[in-house]
Amino acid sequence: MDRLRFRSLASGSSGNCYFLGNTSYGILIDAGVGVRNTRKFLKTMGLDYCHIWGIFVTHDHADHIKAVGAIGEKFHVPVYATRLVHEGIDRNYCVTQKLSSSRRFIETGDETVIGDFRVTAFPVSHDSTDSVGYSVQYKGFTFTFATDLGYVSDEAARYLVNSDCVVLEANYDEFMLENGPYPLVLQTRIKADTGHLCNMQAATFLAENYTERWKYVFLCHLSRENNMPELAFSTITGHLKDQMIPYEGRTEIVPLERTEPSRMYIFD
Ligand SMILES: [Zn+2]
Ligand SMILES: [Zn+2]
Repeated sequence: MDRLRFRSLASGSSGNCYFLGNTSYGILIDAGVGVRNTRKFLKTMGLDYCHIWGIFVTHDHADHIKAVGAIGEKFHVPVYATRLVHEGIDRNYCVTQKLSSSRRFIETGDETVIGDFRVTAFPVSHDSTDSVGYSVQYKGFTFTFATDLGYVSDEAARYLVNSDCVVLEANYDEFMLENGPYPLVLQTRIKADTGHLCNMQAATFLAENYTERWKYVFLCHLSRENNMPELAFSTITGHLKDQMIPYEGRTEIVPLERTEPSRMYIFD
């Protein structure tokens, strides 16, 4: 009954929101989907905003924060972010309802305890005011989120490796980006160390750091224009096989849908 549950509501540049919880309460990582759709999603699990004990924000880009003001202030859900991310949220025109009573400050490396959840933020490199990933422990099970990052730093790698499940960005396929509709200046921004992780970067990281502890690797923030779920999956599994990584039967690789909620994953 209090087994850990994970579901993605949406993942990508049109909105990001992930749920981690049990049957009675949970937390959200990012709130970049509208307040009504997020509520509808929670209702499918028999939950409402009163069951969400905190939203943890990765960074201040609209696709991650669109609904933080409304959910935080109208529904009294605490919104956790670094001081710089909060400043970015305050300045962002997408967030019409400004945060006051729901605002909570965190610092990277510090643990925030919410019920049975212990949440630690770690820095990641991205072109926002400030960006973090989150490692969430629940009764000895560790789930780590690393989205919107130009490269995997040693620090981020440490959190990802010490996890039972990871949610890792696989934003673009290099060939599709270079031969797609994006102008060169935007391509350069995406490829930068402060941009996004491509399929091959994710593949390389996973192969070089593979641990049998990983039950699931969820691929997140796939680009609509520059990636496809099957391509992200085949690039990554192909590379793992090339590198003789014995992941089959141990680790499941799952690309998350951009606009469709994932199924529920339940962990012991
Ligand atoms: Zn994003
Ligand atoms: Zn971003």
